[in-house]
Amino acid sequence: MIIDGKQIAQQLKQELREQVAQLVRQYGRKPCLDVILVGENPASLSYVRSKIKATEYCGFEGELIHLAASTTQDELLRIIRERNSDDAVDGILVQLPLPAHIDEQSVIHAIAPEKDVDGFHPSNVAGLWLNQPTIAPCTPLGIIALLEHAGTVFEGRHAVVVGRSNIVGKPIAKLLLDRNCTVSIAHSRTANLAAICREADTLIVAVGRPKTITAEMVKPGATVIDVGINRTPDGRLVGDVDFEAVALVAGAITPVPGGVGPMTITMLMRNTIECYKKRIKK
Ligand code: NDP
Repeated sequence: MIIDGKQIAQQLKQELREQVAQLVRQYGRKPCLDVILVGENPASLSYVRSKIKATEYCGFEGELIHLAASTTQDELLRIIRERNSDDAVDGILVQLPLPAHIDEQSVIHAIAPEKDVDGFHPSNVAGLWLNQPTIAPCTPLGIIALLEHAGTVFEGRHAVVVGRSNIVGKPIAKLLLDRNCTVSIAHSRTANLAAICREADTLIVAVGRPKTITAEMVKPGATVIDVGINRTPDGRLVGDVDFEAVALVAGAITPVPGGVGPMTITMLMRNTIECYKKRIKK
């Protein structure tokens, strides 16, 4: 089975759009997401465009604040603080990566936790690990939604996560743990990666290297979620999994593009609505 992230994301976005229309009728204002982009990184520009398109579809308000690559850290922090104290703004997203002269951690810390739609602020990270109400990061939330949609059984099953980044590997491991999976986290220093992956009922791959996972590394019938986004020398987008070969072994698999990517954006919309609801009820 190919898990069609594009179609699932579209269905969820339509439900969110209906929810927003209902919220606007109830509370008299739209959710508002401000997106800040610094510089001209082509991949970031493309992600930001997709995010803005999704906000328009869902019926949000918001502003794209596109700043020059030379913007100083102080100036960026000033703009974030301005949005933090603006009551009309529900969510603030700073597109990463930032130019090298800006410290990403300082920027993430500066966003008010209740407007941190990416779920990267330390308070939200702590909330996730301490099982407290929180905003979880969008890509892991999107992966869980895909797995649920594919009818994946979580409880007691072995999930292997390849990659241990703060934005994908670690939080998806925690969300799987919360669903009573037995979770292994693999990384670049893991010995016997193939043997560990072959034990997985659910295999999540977030590495950033094409063909990291080949057919011999996958247990027959396993569910494989490919988070990777890589551009080949001929300009194609591919994931981290050798899709054609692994699809013959796996029970279910996500394609790239059209798998996790669209779900990440949909979960950003969902997080923004959650921030709006919490703020409006205060
Ligand atoms: P990072 O570069 O932060 O992390 C990569 C992880 O992969 C690290 O933990 C690294 O190990 C591990 N790794 C590297 N090489 C190997 C290897 N040969 N074997 C096993 N593990 C390895 O990446 P991200 O988590 O930010 O992103 C991963 C991929 O997912 C990228 O392609 C990115 O573009 C994509 N992505 C896609 C999103 C989407 O919406 N679809 C959202 C976010 C990311 P170590 O820690 O030891 O260095």
